[in-house]
Amino acid sequence: MRLIAIDGPGGSGKSTVSKALALRLGLERLDTGAMYRAVALLALRRGVDVHDGPALGRLARSMVLEVNASILLDGEDVSSTIRTGDVDAAVSLVSRHPEVREELVKRQRQWADRHGGGIVEGRDIGSVVFPDATLKIYLTASASVRAMRRAREFDARGEVDPDVVSTTRESIERRDEIDSTRHDSPLLIADGAVVIDSTSRTVAEVVDEIAAML
Ligand code: C5P
Repeated sequence: MRLIAIDGPGGSGKSTVSKALALRLGLERLDTGAMYRAVALLALRRGVDVHDGPALGRLARSMVLEVNASILLDGEDVSSTIRTGDVDAAVSLVSRHPEVREELVKRQRQWADRHGGGIVEGRDIGSVVFPDATLKIYLTASASVRAMRRAREFDARGEVDPDVVSTTRESIERRDEIDSTRHDSPLLIADGAVVIDSTSRTVAEVVDEIAAML
């Protein structure tokens, strides 16, 4: 099974790079961040406390989730709803809980079995979910570039308000801090991972570099 794990913090270019790489290699891609975001959205909607691990685990186990080009949660397209500020603020608190992780990791492994491998992006893919992956990439970029990229995603016209960039930077740094210091499956550079800094590189350059490693 050919499995490529792409981990890294928010705004490092994981999604853009993994989409382009999937096209290039003709592989399926799984965005595991979208799965954690779906549980966070469900918790916000149902009023479940983000500190209540067992209740969040039950939510995760009960949801019907399809992660493809669009994200369908219990049949509803939540592709854009899972990217709002409310979900950004809650997701790292929700993803800390082992009860949530256990269920989502199980689904991620089932996805890979069903597809015979693919490109899986997240935070703990090379370290925990697929430690025997064919290739492990840890993608990173400076905090200011990551904030700028995320802020641009919010503004389709490409005009980026400096206030938005600084709030975005605070929000991704807060998430990085929680994701990197949590007890269960923290964000880290997995054993054997190749670190790529995308700060001053184009998507095509990064994709070429990864493709050349296969
Ligand atoms: O990749 P994205 O920024 O959409 O991920 C949202 C959040 O989901 C992360 O900040 C992290 O808390 C959680 N996550 C995780 N493990 C993964 C993928 C995402 O804990 N494999």
